[in-house]
Amino acid sequence: MTNKLVYFIGNWKMFGDLTSIKVIKNVEKFYKGFVKYNKKNKIVFCVPDTLINFLTKNLKSKRISIGAQDCHHYSDYGAFTGSVNASMLKNSGAKYVILGHSEKRFEGDTNKLIKKKIESALKKKLTVVFCIGETSKEKKYKKTFSVLKKQIADSIDKKFDFKKIIIAYEPVWSIGTGNVPKSHDLRNIFKFIKKYFKSNYKVKSSPPVLYGGSVNERNISMFPKISEINGFLIGGSSQSAKKFIAIIKNYYK
Ligand code: PEP
Repeated sequence: MTNKLVYFIGNWKMFGDLTSIKVIKNVEKFYKGFVKYNKKNKIVFCVPDTLINFLTKNLKSKRISIGAQDCHHYSDYGAFTGSVNASMLKNSGAKYVILGHSEKRFEGDTNKLIKKKIESALKKKLTVVFCIGETSKEKKYKKTFSVLKKQIADSIDKKFDFKKIIIAYEPVWSIGTGNVPKSHDLRNIFKFIKKYFKSNYKVKSSPPVLYGGSVNERNISMFPKISEINGFLIGGSSQSAKKFIAIIKNYYK
């Protein structure tokens, strides 16, 4: 069992209504007992904006936080139909926000726009879960490292508050597919990301780096051995309390 803080961050994507609070309530019930023996972890649920305020108000545990899945780059009010800014998320009770998720990149988020979003989220003191990852084509042509480097360099400024940044390595080919990278590859990629942060941003230690992509209650057992991994961004499996709890339990088995 690892002694470092391990993040279990759920990304609900476009899922959930008021009845979905039962998922979080069940996780909360389990976690109340679990943290007595293992305090080195943190749970966050990044939910649709429509649920942030409701879930925050109904959550008893301070050790479970609520986050959002995106924000507009503009931090004031403005004529941006359909958009929500970081300040509005913060006022709703969000503490975290996922930015740069590949599903948002597919919809047109560029590295440059993501940088502006990060800047605006940090200004409002949200913790940013910044997603990076290569496509299957980029992996095939051995471009993984250059893609990751560019995604980081183009979106992360040297002036950012690194204490409020978490990186999530999510290979696009792994999200929702059931395919997970080999341990050996993961180890090299995580080492690369951490080394890049230390040398390029002159930080003593790299921000935490999470793995995301098809994590489930079965394959989680391969991860404790990879000490470079600081936690998980969990999509589909975070929509079920049973699966999410099993992931946490099996990680520490
Ligand atoms: C995600 O959407 O961030 C993700 C990791 O999804 P899944 O776990 O479903 O692959």
